[in-house]
Amino acid sequence: MGVATIAAALTAKRPWLSILCESCDGVTDLDLRMKPRPPDASIRIALREVRCPRCNGHGRPRIVGLSGGIK
Ligand SMILES: [Zn+2]
Repeated sequence: MGVATIAAALTAKRPWLSILCESCDGVTDLDLRMKPRPPDASIRIALREVRCPRCNGHGRPRIVGLSGGIK
């Protein structure tokens, strides 16, 4: 994955972060535009804000990719 910062993800027009829960394999999509964040911060800071809805954050979240949000 070449994108490392929030600014890079937004510039690449891929603001949706896909996060995999290592406990239940559930994937949560997070829109990086929804909250103001320092643009030079790593996209990994968004991991702190994610709680898996399936297992209530029991597992460790992991970034699996970025997308443009069109599915
Ligand atoms: Zn989970």
